Amino acid sequence: MTLLPITLIGDKILRRKASAVKEVDVKTIELIRDMFETMRNANGIGLAANQVGADKSIFIIDISVIEGYEELKPMVFINPKITYRSEKKVFIEEGCLSIPDIRAEVERPETIKMDYQDTDLKELTIEAKDLLARLLQHEYDHLQGVLFTDLISDEMKKKLKRNLSNIKQRNIEFQYPVTEHADYQMQL
Ligand code: ZN
Repeated sequence: MTLLPITLIGDKILRRKASAVKEVDVKTIELIRDMFETMRNANGIGLAANQVGADKSIFIIDISVIEGYEELKPMVFINPKITYRSEKKVFIEEGCLSIPDIRAEVERPETIKMDYQDTDLKELTIEAKDLLARLLQHEYDHLQGVLFTDLISDEMKKKLKRNLSNIKQRNIEFQYPVTEHADYQMQL
């Protein structure tokens, strides 16, 4: 397994809609394994493929470290699609491995339904609420080229401007490997 460098806000690949996965070959399985290693090394609970520079519609989660979710096994979501969003929205604080050291309250639907495929490309559906719904929406957004900082108030954005530019310029200390330059894309 390999630790992969994480792409940061400012990298173009984080702004592109990820390409659909049509086949899960050996390289894809290897990518997923490396994503799990990379996520755990960075103490993350979710990671999308474009966060390691791969243009594929895949994200992974593992929230078994969180109280109340110990039973939930690590999961892989391929070609996910949100099919239902509750009208009721809630504020929950979010962070992101591609935007280190920044956390902000983000308002999103409380409950969602998502269609996705597993590593056998079997069609599955998940219904989620609370933290799980939040995480699935955050990771799904990554694959659409959306970051959580796009969803916060203008006032908050202004406050974070300097921090964001420091991240983009690699001007802070990172706790895990990150890409050296923007526009990094993995050759698959
Ligand atoms: Zn994120």
